Amino acid sequence: MQKKCDVLIIGAGVVGLSTGIALLQSRPNLKVVIADKEKDIGLHASGRNSGVIHAGFYYSPDSLKAKFCRDGNFELRKLAKKYRIPVNNVGKVVVTRNEDEDSRLNTLFERGIANGVELEIHPQEKLKDFEPLAITHNRFMWSPNTGISDSIAIVKAMRDEFYSLGGVIEFGSKVKIVESKGEIVDASNEFLFKHVVNAAGAQADRISRAVGVGSEYAMLPFMGVYRATSEKNLPLKRLVYPVPHPINPFLGVHFTLTIDGKVKIGPTAIPIAGREQYSFTEGWSGSDIAQALKGMKSLVTGDSHDFGAILKSEWPKIIQRLLVKESTELVPSAIGVRDWHRKPPGIRAQLVHLPTGKLEQDFIVTSQANATHVLNAVSPGWTSSIPFGRHVAEKSVLPLLG
Ligand SMILES: Cc1cc2nc3c(=O)[nH]c(=O)nc-3n(C[C@H](O)[C@H](O)[C@H](O)COP(=O)(O)OP(=O)(O)OC[C@H]3O[C@@H](n4cnc5c(N)ncnc54)[C@H](O)[C@@H]3O)c2cc1C
Repeated sequence: MQKKCDVLIIGAGVVGLSTGIALLQSRPNLKVVIADKEKDIGLHASGRNSGVIHAGFYYSPDSLKAKFCRDGNFELRKLAKKYRIPVNNVGKVVVTRNEDEDSRLNTLFERGIANGVELEIHPQEKLKDFEPLAITHNRFMWSPNTGISDSIAIVKAMRDEFYSLGGVIEFGSKVKIVESKGEIVDASNEFLFKHVVNAAGAQADRISRAVGVGSEYAMLPFMGVYRATSEKNLPLKRLVYPVPHPINPFLGVHFTLTIDGKVKIGPTAIPIAGREQYSFTEGWSGSDIAQALKGMKSLVTGDSHDFGAILKSEWPKIIQRLLVKESTELVPSAIGVRDWHRKPPGIRAQLVHLPTGKLEQDFIVTSQANATHVLNAVSPGWTSSIPFGRHVAEKSVLPLLG
């Protein structure tokens, strides 16, 4: 029998769940169903990330990321408190490795201040008071409002919050949408809805392209591999990050802490063929490979990024020795740790804008007929998820639903 609802959301990651929560908070009488192709929660990006509650200083002040990350930092902590999920307010030091990075520290600081984020710049000699194991070329930046939490526990809390508001989740339900007579409908006729939200993470562009949205983008997945050790082997107190590269949308190899007492280095940003290719033997797909090749070609021919340099710097980091070696530019004593083990990787669903060959930096929310698509939900999508979902609900879905 066909399942009827007002709003069908495709994807039970943090973006889909927080959109569902916001819809029901706004209009408790709506029937909101989330369909997820998996049998359980958090099997993709929302459960495979670094668990860092970002403060929001990396992003251009006019971006959705800047707005949602700053507010999301506060709101994620509130949710964690309600569901008794531990949050550790460890803070972050951003260190510099050379003169060029030192001068770029100012840009990062000014950007953060414009975004309303609390930040401080300190001279080198103060670093030992914040993180004695880290080194910096000259000055460093301190972000007191960066924290860590448990990514799986957060996505489960969102699921429980959604259920408590009367939402329904259909697991094991892979949705495909098509256009019919100017309306977007479920291709398999399992669901009958007034509005559909495509919040399918790494699959969202594939779903949107099927109804003619987002064909100017190609998906180029980047695998994030981590190595972890116990805090006993490397007693770091703070997250330690480098100054990010000016044009690549990744933050560079850094040190994060986990809520269960581990120190992680990574993630790498290795371009791969499959958007769910978590190991060499799984996730191969012909259409993913075609998309990735299209994206790579556009990156190579465009002049926005040096794709050769990305490949050259990222691929070697798959070798543990080289990843650890790079990390010693931030924390020299990492070289003495023998006991590193591999953590489950995550995949960044990064879109390439084909006409310009640019890696898309911001989140994209776009509506057509009775559908809303959330594309490029990359980092800091986990931190940003609560205001992000509210934005999708209030600015796109509810006005169109009438
Ligand atoms: C390596 C890595 C590290 C990161 N670190 C951080 C961090 O420290 N802090 C931070 O804020 N952000 C971080 N992020 C980003 C963050 O994890 C993502 O932005 C966020 O999880 C995206 O959520 P989502 O709901 O869009 O996607 P997902 O969590 O991937 O959810 C999408 C869901 O859609 C389902 N789906 C797909 N296709 C279909 C279909 N056809 N039918 C039904 N269901 C479907 C999938 O099964 C999945 O459950 C990181 C990401 C990665 C990859």
